[in-house]
Amino acid sequence: MFKKSIKAYSEACEVIPGGVDSPVRAFKGVGGTPPFIKKGKGAYLYDIDGNRYLDFVQSWGPLIFGHCDKDIEKAVVKTAKLGLSFGAPTTLETKLAQEIVEMYDNIDKVRFVSSGTEATMSAIRLARGVTNKNDIVKFEGCYHGHSDSLLVQAGSGMATFGSPSSPGVPADLTKHTLLCEYNNIEQLKKCFEESSDIACIIIEPIAGNMGLVPADVEFLEACRELCDKHGALLIFDEVMSGFRASLKGASGILDIKADIITFGKVIGAGMPVGAFASRNEIMNQLSPDGKIYQAGTLSGNPVAMAAGLVSLRKLKKNPEIYEELSKKAKRLINGLKKVADKNGIAFQINSRGSMFGFFFCEKEPKNFKDVGTCNFERFATFHNEMLKRGFYFACSQYEAGFVSTKISNKMIDDCIKAADIVMKNLK
Ligand SMILES: *Cc1c(COP(=O)(O)O)cnc(C)c1O
Repeated sequence: MFKKSIKAYSEACEVIPGGVDSPVRAFKGVGGTPPFIKKGKGAYLYDIDGNRYLDFVQSWGPLIFGHCDKDIEKAVVKTAKLGLSFGAPTTLETKLAQEIVEMYDNIDKVRFVSSGTEATMSAIRLARGVTNKNDIVKFEGCYHGHSDSLLVQAGSGMATFGSPSSPGVPADLTKHTLLCEYNNIEQLKKCFEESSDIACIIIEPIAGNMGLVPADVEFLEACRELCDKHGALLIFDEVMSGFRASLKGASGILDIKADIITFGKVIGAGMPVGAFASRNEIMNQLSPDGKIYQAGTLSGNPVAMAAGLVSLRKLKKNPEIYEELSKKAKRLINGLKKVADKNGIAFQINSRGSMFGFFFCEKEPKNFKDVGTCNFERFATFHNEMLKRGFYFACSQYEAGFVSTKISNKMIDDCIKAADIVMKNLK
């Protein structure tokens, strides 16, 4: 079934570390060879062996309209024909910025970059520059891209100075990153007692990088209060949840307002785009108006802007899409839960808009440690068996899943039927 992919993978491993350009793609969490993809169409992925999969990964979030959406495709081709990049301003950037600013009452200006990593990295520089402070608070299990200060893991102790989670990251840098447990208000308070040099808290308000683990409202309120009390800025990393969890992202579901919001994924519709946004008084401190430096040769790339613009305009024009997607995500996870219960499999589910997550766990995980107690063997077997049956789920229990507008109720029901058979045989 995977003959050509196995060969392609071994060839890739000769010239690309681990055969992939982003580690999760290598299927290390579930074993086996990742299918090499030939094309996508609508709700489906097709690999080079000719297998077809119902896609619940959607390039890890960007493809809310599925693969090869006609409107997006048309805009991309039309724009590409006018030139791929100019290194000069285009009106497309202004238009996409307008679309984003219009959706939020707490942001006035947006700056575009080329990835989520760049967006969060720049947001942190901005927060540090504006507050004139050095420390940042990050939560275990939240992922904000792979920049140095954000690749931290817990050291010893409680509210602790993070230590590097990767070789190549200097401890001198990560000592400025304070690591706390997600949804743990006491630890967060302690953090602010330990340091008077905190520039910002960065958080995924709906964490999607340890499976789907939404923050408790009281926890986010505590983040807001502590930032206000100590003159720190609150950064919502909405690279995943932006225009996904709702038309206004997590911010649209919650009453809590962040100072800086980062975007990526959906705002580029599959093209490399990231962005960070805030109020005038903060954004005006960025270069060239202000002193805080940030730049990018391909930032605001016209083809990427065109893709994002069509996508966001379609979403805004048809806000009922979010209700439909939300219903579909619920249909999927409730269906999976039902067959899990029927087969005596401990199973936890969650969804926010078109984001969904499930865990092979006795109780709902509230933080990274909880997720670590889930049954990973079961997850791997489930994943492999579903893949063989044509259902492409994220290859790690630490990742969220997504539904697109191209996924129908019938497709979801077929998936649940397949899951029933798979779960019957899960040990
Ligand atoms: C994907 C993601 C990032 C990193 O974005 P890249 O485009 O992969 O660099 C940052 N934050 C969150 C919340 C993400 O989901």
